Amino acid sequence: MDIKELLIMQKSFDRYLAAKQIGQSDNEKLDEWNRSVLDKKLLALSVEVGELANATRCFKYWSTKEDEGKERILDEFADVLHFLLSVANSLQFTSEDIEHAYIRKHSENYRRQAEGY
Ligand SMILES: [Mg+2]
Repeated sequence: MDIKELLIMQKSFDRYLAAKQIGQSDNEKLDEWNRSVLDKKLLALSVEVGELANATRCFKYWSTKEDEGKERILDEFADVLHFLLSVANSLQFTSEDIEHAYIRKHSENYRRQAEGY
């Protein structure tokens, strides 16, 4: 499965959710509603990143407890991915947009490291 398929699956879910929220079935209206809640999606994404950090317990320097286990951490990772894909769809990013931006940034990160960034 690649990013393109994940974006399609997420768009399908986002439209399903929008249809339940606004009682419409027109895809343009559903996509418009999804774009209108972008700020809420970004907040939800931030919350899910926090939940992921919490599951790993990586920041709890005061605690000696183990992380919550791979399955729990993966579940939170999937929540992060869900909202990240939903944000991408709201911003009308294609899989090609994302892949090109990622590859460009990936190269830049190597360059920055090589130059002592
Ligand atoms: Mg979660």
